Amino acid sequence: MSDTDLTRLTAARTAAVIAAGEASALDVTEAHLKRIRAVDGDVHAFLHVDADGARDAARRLDARRSAGEEMGPLAGVPIALKDLIATEGVPTTCGSRMLEGWLPPYDATVTRRLREAGLVILGKTNMDEFAMGSSTEHSAYGPTHNPWDLERIPGGSGGGSAAAVASFETPLAVGTDTGGSIRQPAAVTGTVGVKPTYGGVSRYGLVALASSLDQAGPCARTVLDAAMLHAVMAGHDPLDSTSIDAPVPAVVEAARAADVRGMRVGVVKQFSGEGYQSGVEQRFREAVSLLEELGATVVEVDCPAFDYAMPAYYLILPSECSSNLARFDGMRYGLRVGHDAAASAEEVMASTRDAGFGPEAKRRIMLGTYALSSGYYDAYYGQAQKVRTLIVRDFQAAFEQVDVLVSPTTPTTAFRLGERLEDPLQMYLADLCTIPSNLAGNASMSVPVGLAPEDGLPVGLQVIAPPTADERLYRVGAALEAALGDRWGHLLIDEAPELSLNTTEAAL
Ligand code: GLN
Repeated sequence: MSDTDLTRLTAARTAAVIAAGEASALDVTEAHLKRIRAVDGDVHAFLHVDADGARDAARRLDARRSAGEEMGPLAGVPIALKDLIATEGVPTTCGSRMLEGWLPPYDATVTRRLREAGLVILGKTNMDEFAMGSSTEHSAYGPTHNPWDLERIPGGSGGGSAAAVASFETPLAVGTDTGGSIRQPAAVTGTVGVKPTYGGVSRYGLVALASSLDQAGPCARTVLDAAMLHAVMAGHDPLDSTSIDAPVPAVVEAARAADVRGMRVGVVKQFSGEGYQSGVEQRFREAVSLLEELGATVVEVDCPAFDYAMPAYYLILPSECSSNLARFDGMRYGLRVGHDAAASAEEVMASTRDAGFGPEAKRRIMLGTYALSSGYYDAYYGQAQKVRTLIVRDFQAAFEQVDVLVSPTTPTTAFRLGERLEDPLQMYLADLCTIPSNLAGNASMSVPVGLAPEDGLPVGLQVIAPPTADERLYRVGAALEAALGDRWGHLLIDEAPELSLNTTEAAL
């Protein structure tokens, strides 16, 4: 099989090709490294490519296979990790100058599980600094470009992971989602992104943004691939006190079933109208009709507290992140500035934090410190926590009537690089529909539902399931994907690679 063909396969198919001996894990790795060399100068999805590490891992796998060892369902498949996931001895910068040159002394649980399952780690992907942003423009190392149109944003904060998957540099990537950072990039790059139930995937070894919201999850080109990765990443971890101690939901079986017959689907009333691009609403409505044709019952569901999710999030997230980022003080990790003999510890901390953090990180640290200060705690943080409870109640009431909720993932398709950089509020609005799931700990997915007619850019549909019912996302996502397959060539990568890439390759 040619190098190009090897980069066009789904993860499931790649593993099958390797298992059948049609290509070695090393062939697959080399093909992807070549693709990265060819396109990443334009896309800039990667902050660090670990070519030697990937080759070593692939060679070891090939040797084990030749020795007759049984391999897992994703053995030999390449993967990229968002650059806030600790990888032993491999740079982990969080997109920040603060951690430039820092080498983690250990692997995150997610990293360890991937290695044990035989996935080949290609490198680390670009992100907004410490995962704050919706465009990857807040990376200290320059933005990632959307492969559909290099002048546009790939979403954020995990724009690198989504763009790497969309541009066929890797079939799989891992992201993290605190307010939408897996789902919003997936939507604007035409890929699949899943935020599992809070506590479904271990946070051990993930650099924390907001600990009560953060969750790692899969980025892929197909729903089944996302499910297979989900199954490998998820599961109880005693090293994370918020990790759920229960069996992983049957996500792979659900993706294979791809069946929504008899399911009750609720359309969130709050997520439409003013501010929503017409082509996004059109594709969303068509997809909802398709779900009805496939045998689901559709009703509209009112979630009034969702109107206050954004303001609540922008108090809770800065509060938690101002506390989490306090550890970057010039003493323990990475950067240290101004440590001449006469400087006090306080001066070193102040000059390190001034030089090491970009403007968005500083904005949120200041907001959070203010919201948590003794005189304002009840008025801001306390109120936001009450809103959070109301959002949880809206979800509970909704899930008494329906099995899943759906909405557009994002109000618009990918906007232009630079367009929202000077206007934080506009940037924050990209996550309007994704934030409630983080506040309540629900499982959510973004699945591509076509291209907006006015700009030809991908549109994502968000599916939301109650906590620990992640398998429902995969039933709905896979059913939509299968039904849309013949209407949208991009999804046909397995059967017709030449079809799927016209848009992407033209852009590259
Ligand atoms: N864009 C959102 C923010 O800036 C989401 C971040 C995330 O999920 N990491 O906070």
